[in-house]
Amino acid sequence: MVARRDQVTDPRIAADLLLARRGSAYFSRKLNELSDEEYDGPSLLAGWQRRHVIAHVGYNARALTRLTEWAATGVETPMYASAAQRNEEIEYGSTLNVLALRNLSDHAIVHLNVEWRDLPTDAWSNQVRTAQGRVVPVSETAWMRAREVWLHAVDLDNGGRFEHFPPEFLDRLLADIAGNWAKRQKAEGIPSFVLEPSDREESITVGEASETPVILRGTAARLAQWASGRGTTGVLTADGDAAARAPRWI
Ligand code: ZN
Repeated sequence: MVARRDQVTDPRIAADLLLARRGSAYFSRKLNELSDEEYDGPSLLAGWQRRHVIAHVGYNARALTRLTEWAATGVETPMYASAAQRNEEIEYGSTLNVLALRNLSDHAIVHLNVEWRDLPTDAWSNQVRTAQGRVVPVSETAWMRAREVWLHAVDLDNGGRFEHFPPEFLDRLLADIAGNWAKRQKAEGIPSFVLEPSDREESITVGEASETPVILRGTAARLAQWASGRGTTGVLTADGDAAARAPRWI
């Protein structure tokens, strides 16, 4: 029997699903605001036109749909056959006409949603493997998708802004990135940071406690923009200098 509503009961997963769905709606809205000609314009991602971003986000939904089907059936279906196949798919997708790109985006969003909705409660902890080779519970797909749609909506460069993001998404993103840097700190010499969002009560400490951490200030939106590798605008050091570029994240 086909379920009409989510089977998931874990409130944290439900919250991530909500962020992914709100982000998908936001991405679709920005996409629909583009004229046909504007699909050919540059995105904020080096070397990618907007049509590459749209193709990538559509194929990402399909890849996460495959992981969700894997969790549901136990039949291993990886996100992508290989990195080369992933890149070829984006290149191919970027050549589609505007209507086909819109359809790709819309259908991929609907299909992923249906798979999530119908995934039984006890299957959300089933393990799958991401394109980076991480073994994670399939529930991780909700957060992975939320990141993709919100960030790439900004990358379309037609008015999407971190200031539009839900506060809980910004906080979750900053925590995610801080955790990633902390894990890689020793091996890659990533500095210790203290991020002090001007519109939050708490600061965020990244990595080992240090007597001389890099202190950075800005709104949570600007700090998240900086941390996700999208420029240094609005982020200042404790001395009021412009921030250096953030370490690599993903
Ligand atoms: Zn992406």
